[in-house]
Amino acid sequence: MWQHELLTDIPKRFYSDEEGKLFDHCKICGKYLLDDGTSYFIEKAIKKYDGYDFHTTIFEYAVCFDCHGVIQGTMSEESVLNLQQYYAKIMKEKGNQPIVIDINHFDLDAWLSKCFFTGDPVSQMKEYQLVAQFNGEKMVMNTPPMIVGEAAMEQMASLLSEKTTDEMNGFRDQFLGPDPELEELIYGKKLLLI
Ligand SMILES: [Zn+2]
Repeated sequence: MWQHELLTDIPKRFYSDEEGKLFDHCKICGKYLLDDGTSYFIEKAIKKYDGYDFHTTIFEYAVCFDCHGVIQGTMSEESVLNLQQYYAKIMKEKGNQPIVIDINHFDLDAWLSKCFFTGDPVSQMKEYQLVAQFNGEKMVMNTPPMIVGEAAMEQMASLLSEKTTDEMNGFRDQFLGPDPELEELIYGKKLLLI
């Protein structure tokens, strides 16, 4: 079924913090992303510091739809199944309501103030990830942007097979580079790429 895409301007928080502008190329294949009709994802990991009103972006990247599919394809069947079950369980807890976004009255800041999975407030987290889908110079709201808090990250990481964890770490080393802080943050944890 053809589904109408709900599009909105890309909020500043999804700009590249490193470059201060929209992400324009896929981190993996280098494809240009800002043409209409080009689907891609952005993922960022944010770290906050106890007692300080301060946060840093630990990593950030954009990945095109095709590369996203390739990465997902490296996950073992077991891992995919486990994650699907996890997601289904969360949606069941939420009452199996489809996520409906009223684009005209949508409060993005409120939506992104808590973990999509656990409901934990971002204000109480030390780290979290931010994931969203885009089309050219617009954000796609049919699958609204998501905060994944540290508890959910840990739960998901524990559902991944060793093989998948190795693949994800290989991806990290290859495309994000070895970085001690990054190592601490996501070693053995899943890069989301939902
Ligand atoms: Zn790509």
